[in-house]
Amino acid sequence: MKTLMTRHNIPLGRILGIPIGLDYSWFLIFALLTWTLAGSYYPAEFKTWPPLLYWFMGAATAIMLFASVLLHELGHSVVALRFKVPVRSITLFIFGGVAQIGAEPPSAKAEFLIAVAGPIVSLGLAVLFSVAQPAVAGIQPLWGLAKYLAYINFALVLFNLIPGFPLDGGRVFRALVWAATKNMRRATLIAANAGRFFGFLFIFAGVWKMFNGDFSGGLWIAFIGWFLDNAASQQVYQAMFQGLLAGHTVSQAMSSHCVTVPADLTLEHLVDEHIFGGGQRCFLVTRDRDTVGMITLHRIKEVPRHDWATTSAAQIMLPLEQLKRTAPDTQLWTALQQMDRDGVNQLPVTRDNRVLGMLSREGVITFLRTLRELGA
Ligand SMILES: [Zn+2]
Repeated sequence: MKTLMTRHNIPLGRILGIPIGLDYSWFLIFALLTWTLAGSYYPAEFKTWPPLLYWFMGAATAIMLFASVLLHELGHSVVALRFKVPVRSITLFIFGGVAQIGAEPPSAKAEFLIAVAGPIVSLGLAVLFSVAQPAVAGIQPLWGLAKYLAYINFALVLFNLIPGFPLDGGRVFRALVWAATKNMRRATLIAANAGRFFGFLFIFAGVWKMFNGDFSGGLWIAFIGWFLDNAASQQVYQAMFQGLLAGHTVSQAMSSHCVTVPADLTLEHLVDEHIFGGGQRCFLVTRDRDTVGMITLHRIKEVPRHDWATTSAAQIMLPLEQLKRTAPDTQLWTALQQMDRDGVNQLPVTRDNRVLGMLSREGVITFLRTLRELGA
């Protein structure tokens, strides 16, 4: 799910230390919701309001709905943090909200509790707004707001409890299979395939609706189904990939032929001799035989060409002590997750502060290809 919405994000601040962001796609659903609420829901409930009040209440209700979604995600996050599972961010986007959990839950029990926390918050909100309705019965706009929020939060509970990963219900399902089989990867595969099944079901139901009188409603359901299927199949591939890498360590896939260059070498020399000459993409910088840093193509690109003759390797290297790194006996899968987390494409492999090689995404793919060719 994360690939779809990490980039176009407007930061809103932090709650419990977690950065809260608004994806650009949120504005689309905000406009659509406001328009629907101001154009149909409120006029149908209350016929005598001035036109501007419909729009004001439409927008206010849409914002309250997203506040409810945010509380739902915070519900997941609080429990995750309790289990020491990091929460990297919460993003509101076109289909609601998503809390980016930074690691897999440590146990089936943790997974279960993190997953149910969101729907429990939504259920609490539904009850709260239901109970509030009689209290504000005399104030039409507040009554309409409470009624809508009670309804929509309850709908959120029902939708999220569909047992297809990565919906909350699917996570609960995964936790149960995980507890029963003691195998998280297998549980992920089963729950994610259930997610794909429900995704298809939504697409099917949506298309059926589209051609039976409710075009826009059907399109929306089909769109949600497509999104669900997409997110679920990503999980299926990830679990399969994880299975292929299981039992293999960084030392098996790392390249130990990283070119080393002296700290005072100019960029011009480096590019001429090693990049155009040797096709290398990554360099270790040494001083007195110690590795002191690393240079990537990306770093070189940041230096204007006319400065290459006067810039030394040491000036643009990433110092070793600042580099994220991995160890030779780390599981490959763990190292890949670290790359994802840190947003890098390669990790120096070190032991006792000595660089033994470089692990890159390309290297992992090559390793997998070799495994397959050997039929291992
Ligand atoms: Zn949830």
